[in-house]
Amino acid sequence: MRDDNCIFCKIANGDIPSATIYEDDMFRVILDLGPASKGHALILPKEHFADVTELDDVYAEKVLKLGAKIGGAMKKSLGCAGFNLVQNNGIAAGQTVFHFHMHVIPRYENGPEMVAWVPGSYEEGEMEKTAEEIRKAL
Ligand code: 5GP
Ligand code: ZN
Repeated sequence: MRDDNCIFCKIANGDIPSATIYEDDMFRVILDLGPASKGHALILPKEHFADVTELDDVYAEKVLKLGAKIGGAMKKSLGCAGFNLVQNNGIAAGQTVFHFHMHVIPRYENGPEMVAWVPGSYEEGEMEKTAEEIRKAL
């Protein structure tokens, strides 16, 4: 299903032009307009899913493989040393477009640097308690 008010539905289905690097019957992969590094791409399903919790199983099964394929092509073509697959869910997590997408971000030896988290720590017993809370909600 498509959402007529969704810009990524329009881009994924070719109604709005984009710098497309890959397309099949399920996905379009485009360059991000505001790249974190040269070649930063977005994998867009052609159907509308707001985020990963809504993503259909068939898409979910394919998207990681596609990320690996695009990242591999970036290493060959752009000479990046590695790449990040990043996928934001919810405003608090940095999601700004509410159509599922996976970022493929090339990482070069000479930067740019990207924000990394500062490792925290747990109080005594807190780690086990946290794991239990999540397990109970599965
Ligand atoms: P999010 O923050 O939701 O994970 O990522 C949204 C991404 O989409 C951002 O990196 C932003 O630069 C990119 N973006 C937003 N609108 C457009 C657009 O119209 N075209 C393209 N190519 N990228 C877009
Ligand atoms: Zn959409």
